[in-house]
Amino acid sequence: FKQSNIRNFSIIAHIDHGKSTLSDRLIQHCGGLADREMAEQVLDSMDLERERGITIKAQSVTLYYNAADGESYQLNFIDTPGHVDFSYEVSRSLAGCEGALLVVDAAQGVEAQTLANCYTAIEMDLEVVPVLNKIDLPQADPMRVAEEIEDIVGIEAVDAVQCSAKTGIGIDDVLERIVRQIPPPGGDAEAPLQALIIDSWFDNYQGVVSLVRVKNGILRAGDKMKVMSTGQVHQIDKVGFFSPKATETGILRTGEVGYVIAGIKDILGAPVGDTLTLAKNSAVGALPGFKKVKPQVYAGMFPISSEDYENFRDALGKLSLNDASLFYEPENSSALGFGFRCGFLGMLHMEIIQERLEREYDIDLITTAPTVVYKVLRTDGKEVSVDNPVNLPPVNDIDVIYEPIVEAHILVPQEFLGNVITLCVDKRGVQTSMNYHGKQVAVTYELPMAEVVMDFFDRLKSTSRGYASLDYQFKRFQEADMVRVDILINNERVDALALITHREHSQTRGRQVVDKMRELIPRQMFDIAIQATIGNHVIARSTVKQLRKNVTAKCYGGDVSRKKKLLQKQKEGKKRMKQLGNVEVPQEAFLAVLKVG
Ligand code: GDP
Ligand code: MG
Repeated sequence: FKQSNIRNFSIIAHIDHGKSTLSDRLIQHCGGLADREMAEQVLDSMDLERERGITIKAQSVTLYYNAADGESYQLNFIDTPGHVDFSYEVSRSLAGCEGALLVVDAAQGVEAQTLANCYTAIEMDLEVVPVLNKIDLPQADPMRVAEEIEDIVGIEAVDAVQCSAKTGIGIDDVLERIVRQIPPPGGDAEAPLQALIIDSWFDNYQGVVSLVRVKNGILRAGDKMKVMSTGQVHQIDKVGFFSPKATETGILRTGEVGYVIAGIKDILGAPVGDTLTLAKNSAVGALPGFKKVKPQVYAGMFPISSEDYENFRDALGKLSLNDASLFYEPENSSALGFGFRCGFLGMLHMEIIQERLEREYDIDLITTAPTVVYKVLRTDGKEVSVDNPVNLPPVNDIDVIYEPIVEAHILVPQEFLGNVITLCVDKRGVQTSMNYHGKQVAVTYELPMAEVVMDFFDRLKSTSRGYASLDYQFKRFQEADMVRVDILINNERVDALALITHREHSQTRGRQVVDKMRELIPRQMFDIAIQATIGNHVIARSTVKQLRKNVTAKCYGGDVSRKKKLLQKQKEGKKRMKQLGNVEVPQEAFLAVLKVG
């Protein structure tokens, strides 16, 4: 295809503003799929995404469009995820593009997350094309939203294209804008090959599949390619693009986006952000990759059945291949046995990984309470990073603890501003700026990351009836009065239940955890004492009273089928129980630490 007739673009949109619907419309319009093949939402291919209604993995689709100017264009659309935990993947997808559609719900307006992703696109020199979606809705107010885009985002939007992805109005206009406003890819077809790996994943039959953007030169099946970071050479087996079905073309030219399969079996053989070149006539340098992101939240993950350990390790390896932000290393807990300490971008990221492990790999897991990374200056002058409460040095060895602080950008309609401020103050926040944009207010707070990653997002949503939106980044470390709260069951410290918290909240949190544990641990044949301690000091205690025999007899007596049902329930429940000494503790108990506070 002529390089000047190629357009590479992404869609930036807040969740629910219509990205998936618009994507499907564009695919349908360009004949990528027959109507009967249109799954409800084509691009969100994983079950999990469909259920949660969010897009996790970047994917691409190549479309052909006959424009009003009589020319035929190749449109490569790279999908981006939309949640606050996944900004990193957004910049990855954008690296393959010259432009981005900024899709905004014309009945809602701009949201903090879209704003952050939009700035990323502008910083990367992409052409941002505003699109006002859902104009079919009676409450749509395209003029107001266009003004809001100009005011908050700072790009021209008075003549923004208006469409309804649902009814199909204006879809032609969207395609025309893509062709006219987004520049064609640069790059030199004669130069040595440089292809950027945007994404890689493991396919059980083909080995590693990589999604690439050819920046210079040509990628051809049969050639020998070199992975620049490792120097490893592989024969290229298959090359093609997704339309959205995989379509083999044998060649990808300068400016194009598509997949490469080269019989790579080692899952670390084609890392995301790396550059592919040819073994002969190699490029001199690698392309600038992506900025490395560090996980911000860590938690222990332990298979309930120790037989799953090997599978678990393999699964983490496969998942981390196309998710460079997932970190893991072996962890050994006296309570939970062998598992992994895993690092995530945020809580949603953690939940998704946990669900994928359970669904796609069929591994039942216990996840411990997540924690952020603290810096600790010890009395011997050494500084250590602590991502696990168990590793917090003894109180006497600690000089200062520093906690991570984030800068949080919140957009909220004026009527909920008071609620949002109350929430931020409650979470130890310090306001740094506040600006009014029409009905919306943009407020910036510095907040402890530990407070933000836990339940902040949910609380923000509920206190603003869903209208407030949030984006945050790590800012700096700051001295803080943190302590470790230990949980003891029958006087045994349970390492997996320890948590780090601010001293001010330690009493309350200790109390809440102990109370929650008492509810969750089923009665057994003996009393179970539950205590929360700081050092040797008990801050809360509670007891699960022993089971009275006649009570069991009563409730299990008589009805045989009911008894069977109960036994079956127990068996299922057992899978989720972990034996701690002689006490059986359900999985929920480990999460209790996270749910309170
Ligand atoms: P995403 O989260 O950005 O991918 O948003 P979706 O495409 O999943 O859309 C979210 C909801 O908005 C769905 O219920 C869609 O049916 C609906 N929707 C999308 N586009 C339009 C539109 O143009 N008009 C109306 N009325 N609803 C739309
Ligand atoms: Mg979607």
